[in-house]
Amino acid sequence: MVTRITLVEGDITEQQVDAVVNAANSSLLGGGGVDGAIHRKGGPRILEECRRLRASHWGGGLPTGRSVATTAGRLPARWVVHTVGPVYLAEEYEERAELLASCYRESLRTAAELGARTVAFPAVSAGVYGWPPADAARIALGTVAEVLDGGDAQAGAELAEVRFVLFGAEMCGVFERALRELLGQGG
Ligand code: ADP
Repeated sequence: MVTRITLVEGDITEQQVDAVVNAANSSLLGGGGVDGAIHRKGGPRILEECRRLRASHWGGGLPTGRSVATTAGRLPARWVVHTVGPVYLAEEYEERAELLASCYRESLRTAAELGARTVAFPAVSAGVYGWPPADAARIALGTVAEVLDGGDAQAGAELAEVRFVLFGAEMCGVFERALRELLGQGG
């Protein structure tokens, strides 16, 4: 399982993978951070498909914890899987942590249904949405490891690599520590 999880410091828009995951907002119509970078580099076709989704199946916007795929436009990837992370709120920690885990599970399922074998994730909710990085990393890695271990038999079997693409050395270090903890090696 965890051997199929990789961590790199870098820019998610440059990844040569089948699917890149976008930390979108529920409007699907663009935003800052990862979302802004994906639309800027991927070009207008992504937004066109997002608009069509808003005009059809997701008229009320994409709910938090869910995911939906579009073309990746001019990005090296084939698909963008848009997912909406929860905004961090300490008073509603349990519900929102479950929604953050759901982002990872649903995105992997969506990617696997398309036939993706390699998927790149950013640190969903750990930017503008304010989730404390170490906890965001623990939830992200724990949930992906569970899927790869067979928690979702179909998605788990299809996936050859799940890559976390972390912006900056600090976030990369946080994920490295969380992965070591997950592997049971401690600090
Ligand atoms: P959210 O709104 O879900 O918090 P953000 O896009 O604000 O999402 O940030 C999520 C994480 O992605 C943050 O750690 C941010 O620094 C990082 N990030 C921003 N741009 C990129 C990028 N181009 N590639 C990878 N990570 C990025």
